[in-house]
Amino acid sequence: MELDAARDAVARRIMVMNERVNALKARGLYFYNQPITELRGGARVLVNGREMGMYASYSYLGLVGHPRINKAAQEAVEKYGTGTHGVRSLAGSLKLHEELEETIAEFKHAEAAITYTSGYVTNLTVVSTLMGRGDWVLSDKLNHASIVDGCLMSGAVFRRFKHNDMDDLERRLQQVPSGAAKLVVADAVFSMDGDIIDLPRMAELCRKYDAWLMIDEAHSVGVLGKTGRGIEEHFGLEDVIDIKMGTLSKTIPSVGGYVAGKKEIITYLRHASRAYIFSAALPPAQAAAAKEAFKIILEEPWRIEKLRANTEIFINGLKSAGFDTMLTETAIVPVLCGSDERAFALTAACQRSDIFVLPVVSPAVPEGLARLRATVTAAHEPDEIEHAIDVMVKAGKEIGII
Ligand SMILES: *Cc1c(COP(=O)(O)O)cnc(C)c1O
Repeated sequence: MELDAARDAVARRIMVMNERVNALKARGLYFYNQPITELRGGARVLVNGREMGMYASYSYLGLVGHPRINKAAQEAVEKYGTGTHGVRSLAGSLKLHEELEETIAEFKHAEAAITYTSGYVTNLTVVSTLMGRGDWVLSDKLNHASIVDGCLMSGAVFRRFKHNDMDDLERRLQQVPSGAAKLVVADAVFSMDGDIIDLPRMAELCRKYDAWLMIDEAHSVGVLGKTGRGIEEHFGLEDVIDIKMGTLSKTIPSVGGYVAGKKEIITYLRHASRAYIFSAALPPAQAAAAKEAFKIILEEPWRIEKLRANTEIFINGLKSAGFDTMLTETAIVPVLCGSDERAFALTAACQRSDIFVLPVVSPAVPEGLARLRATVTAAHEPDEIEHAIDVMVKAGKEIGII
């Protein structure tokens, strides 16, 4: 089959993307999908034979490679093998899955929990199972793509409110016809900007307008709250979120997603959500690793303190050098560059100096707001972070960003 752009719209889309990728590769500006050959303690990685400082990891507490987690995964393989030979509802459910869900429920101070094979799939299936035609979903403008896709798939009326703007959310809530079911959904910590949702006001609005509240804690579990339990603990609130969603692929060094909440909600999802009914269960090793990781978060609180201290060093260092780090208060630190070109230039300079960071450019963020999205973790040492800041500052000056 000929793949040329003249054929039809599909061929054109394929060719346009290929041309964009090839053009970046030709200029040495293609930084994506680089194969890492070794993870060295989480703060350093081996890429293309070079050891680099890792500033693009979501392993916020540095748990990837933790001996106890590795051991739990290995023991699960010994006991159960590598697969689950099917869906949970039929023959695929293991005692281990139940234990993981109990552990999550306890960690989130919820009655029950359900797990899926990815965070993406969790949002897709949960939003589209709960909501349907005639219902309304109100979603923050900067919500993660998986939430957006879940909203679209649900068939509900889908409205976005201005980012973290509770007055705009209230206006939207007032537009919902009386009697229609409504869901308000947002990230706890926004994955591109690192800022935190105004949960106290959002929860209050949901109570006032009788809306369901779903929060995606992909970047807040292990990050927010004194003991790392997430956004409710951060704000000193107890059980204001109906659907407490999270992923097992970031702070928790495994793969998968979960929802915690009231027993009845979880029972409903277990019997109605298609990603649970029609897709195989989490593999044993991943379930065991996730279960162990939740325990370690509670048993090693120093990790949360260290993450917090490292975050402060990183943000303050960049800010005092003149970088715009937007509204971040967390370990996700946007380093604003402006044009896509400048973001690519800063990335290239950092990578030449063995600092592994990646650019986020349009259309993932609006034109003119291209940035590096850098992260720090509990695995970094302060002097490593200082060094990374020095590299960024030197390059930022040369490129004219600061
Ligand atoms: C990463 C992420 C997800 C998807 O999680 P995966 O487990 O990687 O599929 C969902 N929501 C947010 C906000 C995320 O950052």
